[in-house]
Amino acid sequence: MPAFADNYIWMLQVGAHAVVVDPGDARPVLDALATRPDLTLAAILVTHHHADHTGGVAALREATGARVYGPAHETIPEPFTPLSQGERVQVLGLEFTVIDVPGHTAGHIAYYLPAHRGEAPLLFCGDTLFSGGCGRLFEGTPQQMLHSLDALAALPGNTRVCCAHEYTLSNLRFARAVEPGNTNLIEYIAQCESLRAHGQPTLPALLATERQVNPFLRSREATVTAAVQEHADLPADAGEVDVFAALRQWKNDFR
Ligand code: ZN
Ligand code: FE
Repeated sequence: MPAFADNYIWMLQVGAHAVVVDPGDARPVLDALATRPDLTLAAILVTHHHADHTGGVAALREATGARVYGPAHETIPEPFTPLSQGERVQVLGLEFTVIDVPGHTAGHIAYYLPAHRGEAPLLFCGDTLFSGGCGRLFEGTPQQMLHSLDALAALPGNTRVCCAHEYTLSNLRFARAVEPGNTNLIEYIAQCESLRAHGQPTLPALLATERQVNPFLRSREATVTAAVQEHADLPADAGEVDVFAALRQWKNDFR
């Protein structure tokens, strides 16, 4: 469900129980629960400490008694079950795996749910991977973010990527500046523009598509590396982390 100007709060429902991810605001979640009196909020999953992801946690816990899970190395509203790399969380009879994805924040985690009950895998990645882009580096290093994105990109291609913001079209404007000749990208832009024109979210994104269009998952591709080297005037022997860092900086400055 949408929250604030461009946040999404994801709600996953199994039978009479639901889980929400990154409730920056309690209101939309409480409104959704009010229309479904049969539905109980069982758990709240938090990816990182920013207020637009945690602002509704305390009120939701109070209203519903839901159990809260969050990153072990960040400060989020207590009490919560601290999680880090490789840990598994049982919620709604489903087993999520935790992936450490430092970069946007130092202790950011993602939740991966493998294929289940005939449904495709799901990834709740907060502000790490966006469709066509990635989160800003507020606390982590380019090297950390590159490795975090590598870990997410290695998940199955049919994974539905549940990002926390609708940033897709502006990300894709930048992606097109980096790779104007990427025909998959041009096609994807048309598809997303049409969705937005009809008031639809562009998310969840398909991981296989992200590998084809997202410059931050493609920084080792010759086309992307060459574009970054030219834009940032990097030496020809610049390493992959330097290229990734310059790509992120280019996006920060892009208008
Ligand atoms: Zn954030
Ligand atoms: Fe955010």
